[in-house]
Amino acid sequence: MITVSTIAELRAARQCLPDPVGLVPTMGFLHEGHLSLVRAARDECAGVVVSIFVNPTQFGPKEDLSIYPHDLPRDLRLLEAEGVDLVWIPTVEVMYPPGYQTWVDVMDVTKPLEGAMRPGHFRGVATVVAKLFNAVQPQKAYFGQKDAQQAVVIQRMVQDMNFPLEVVVCPIRRDADGLALSSRNVYLNPAERQAATVLSRSLLAVQTAYQSGERNASALRKIIAAMIEAEPLAHLQYVSCAAPDTLQEIEGVITGRALLSMAVYVGATRLIDNLVLGE
Ligand code: AMP
Repeated sequence: MITVSTIAELRAARQCLPDPVGLVPTMGFLHEGHLSLVRAARDECAGVVVSIFVNPTQFGPKEDLSIYPHDLPRDLRLLEAEGVDLVWIPTVEVMYPPGYQTWVDVMDVTKPLEGAMRPGHFRGVATVVAKLFNAVQPQKAYFGQKDAQQAVVIQRMVQDMNFPLEVVVCPIRRDADGLALSSRNVYLNPAERQAATVLSRSLLAVQTAYQSGERNASALRKIIAAMIEAEPLAHLQYVSCAAPDTLQEIEGVITGRALLSMAVYVGATRLIDNLVLGE
């Protein structure tokens, strides 16, 4: 496994990889969710590239950029064990050198949900992912359904900007008690960690209601809101029942597929989770 930092090193190492190449973009502090993407890439591609970059432009001024968890030696051990060929760890200077002034702005699908709560977030995400794609030139790129809106935004960008690659979206990986794996779960104290299971429990309740025939979007949103509000350590930021491709909120009856998603503060930690109904 080769580890590189600069664009020149990356390009040189990339040229030596057999095609097709699969790229897995990450912010490091890896867990089984990340590794599931790496395994999908390893299964489907001849060369596997993982990027580790905590992208400052996708964090808001009051967000957790300065305390974002990291353990690079552990990440590298995990990636080596998965048979990754190339790890790209650019610095902020490599990605955004002095004078940098170019941004990728995806429009409608970035407006609701996470985009409404985190202004500028998806501009940072789309820009850095476009830069990763341009530098690595993968044939496939792997993202997690955990960040459902991010997957939609990247797919939109790839289509609109004619990136010659396929976006692969992998299922959410969860702990045994249902909590979706996230690097941010380390912020939770034991009581908060226990309370955090309310996100996945509320999605299960929605799934059960849906399977019993409930098709009213607002009734499904209310199931989640009621369960989150009943958990003293949790505070609901938003709950949504939206069309999975446009992310437009569904009013009234669900006819096709529906993306149930939420952002919840558990203590000071902001967690997201989602479920697609009708798959
Ligand atoms: P991050 O390091 O949080 O930026 O995540 C890197 C990639 O891993 C993104 O495409 C995420 O959607 C994906 N990911 C994060 N957590 C999970 C999870 N629990 N299951 C599946 N994919 C995940």
